[in-house]
Amino acid sequence: MDGSRMILRPAARIVRGTPTSDGAGVKLNRLIGTQQLDSVDPFLMLDEFRSDDANDYIAGFPEHPHRGFETVTYMLAGKMRHGDNKGHSGRLDAGSVQWMTAGRGIVHSEMPEQENGLMWGFQLWVNLPAKDKMTAPRYQEIPPAEIPTASLPAGVTAKVIAGEIAGVRGPINGIATQPTMLDIALPAGGTVTLPLPATHAVFLYPFEGTIAVGEAPDTIGHGNLIVLGPGDAVRIAASGGAARVLLVAGRPLNEPVARYGPFVMNTPQEIRQAAIDYQAGRF
Ligand code: MN
Repeated sequence: MDGSRMILRPAARIVRGTPTSDGAGVKLNRLIGTQQLDSVDPFLMLDEFRSDDANDYIAGFPEHPHRGFETVTYMLAGKMRHGDNKGHSGRLDAGSVQWMTAGRGIVHSEMPEQENGLMWGFQLWVNLPAKDKMTAPRYQEIPPAEIPTASLPAGVTAKVIAGEIAGVRGPINGIATQPTMLDIALPAGGTVTLPLPATHAVFLYPFEGTIAVGEAPDTIGHGNLIVLGPGDAVRIAASGGAARVLLVAGRPLNEPVARYGPFVMNTPQEIRQAAIDYQAGRF
């Protein structure tokens, strides 16, 4: 920060998720992409799926399309098998990330591979700028061993999925919205202050323990999504015991959004075209 004083981003909005189901009946908690919180430009949706009851997830997400944006799947526990109509397939194990740029279109399925046990993870939808919406589909699939960990002061560590923190660069590259995505682990009483571009939108999701954000002493726990206000740094403190926090930042696109289910374009005409192309088998 060149010695100048950092402006800590405050918690501007705190929203609890909306329990919902998607795919063939997978129960999940939708944190972004609800009536309450439509989007955090460039982020269109964030779901947390977490259950140790197979009935909540076993039906999975059978074949469905995407066009015009990116889906990011981060698995904390369990296994997800995926396969698409271009012949790409694989399995996401606990700790792995898939950053899928759908671009002009893919049709894929995302199905739990396990029949019981804990299934826990996130799916984030990241918008693409108008100029990239019809780009060729691209996958970045990162196993846990290839996600580096940054060691920060006070025993805090951060798995760096995207972006760079403390000289540690994450493996995800070439994303239009220049995202930072971190899985931060704070020991009891631990505090971390991270510089992040003032241009970016930032949200936090504590998924274990409780945290305090910025200068405010308020304790915020699991199930609350925190949209941060302006500033050039983020301060997070573990306010109870140990805590884990998902931090996501990205450059807002400030473009019109036309959205219908799995299609996210700029105009209603482009949405109609997406439906026509999908029905004609052109994905
Ligand atoms: Mn999908």
